[in-house]
Amino acid sequence: MIRSAVVAVVALALCGAGTTAMSAPGFVSPKLTLSGPAKAQPTVALTLDACTGKTDMRILNALVSNGISATLFVTQRWMKRNAQALALLKSRPDLFQIENHGAAHVPAIDVPGRAYGAATAGSGAAVIREIEGGARAIETATGRKPVWFRGATALYTQTSLQLIRKTGARVGGYSMAGDGGATLGQAATAKRISTARDGDVILVHVNHPERPAGAGVVEGVLALRRKGYRFVKLGASASR
Ligand SMILES: [Zn+2]
Repeated sequence: MIRSAVVAVVALALCGAGTTAMSAPGFVSPKLTLSGPAKAQPTVALTLDACTGKTDMRILNALVSNGISATLFVTQRWMKRNAQALALLKSRPDLFQIENHGAAHVPAIDVPGRAYGAATAGSGAAVIREIEGGARAIETATGRKPVWFRGATALYTQTSLQLIRKTGARVGGYSMAGDGGATLGQAATAKRISTARDGDVILVHVNHPERPAGAGVVEGVLALRRKGYRFVKLGASASR
């Protein structure tokens, strides 16, 4: 019994090592869950990353027609190419909160290297440019300053986290990777999201209309809704 427990822990550690080896060691991804006293209904926050590319209207249309709230982390790059989707987000401030995913979708990591294959910002100055460029673009587009920042890949160093906090932004962590970086299939995505627990901050992608994961996001979110879950935006402090 003890022996198998040890084996399980080692296997888990190796798994972790594999993940970090792919993205380089020493990076961290802060976990975020909703704070505050539990409500009668289980509550989650759905966060949608709009990294680059297009808009998955399957997701946005389903959220609008079901009155489900979400927080969108958008880049300047995405906003430039998705004016219509941005207009839709701006037209429903009751449902959608727009937050900062950076200027050019460069990982906010202040040392040279790669995170999930993407070249990091590589210096503190480049991290600040990524944060402030994204924030300015959102303020120009919406008239509102974002309060949250989530870097591309959601990986950081301890020092880049300090830089982010110094700009006044809160770090947009998460507790569930709902679509596995938009790589999961429809059924796997739906199943994963449908297992969310009270307080989870769910991260999915809204920029891959060509992939099956987006259909699974819709299914999973509607399954939670049927189970009586509430959906909240992150607001200023990610509380229930
Ligand atoms: Zn992204």
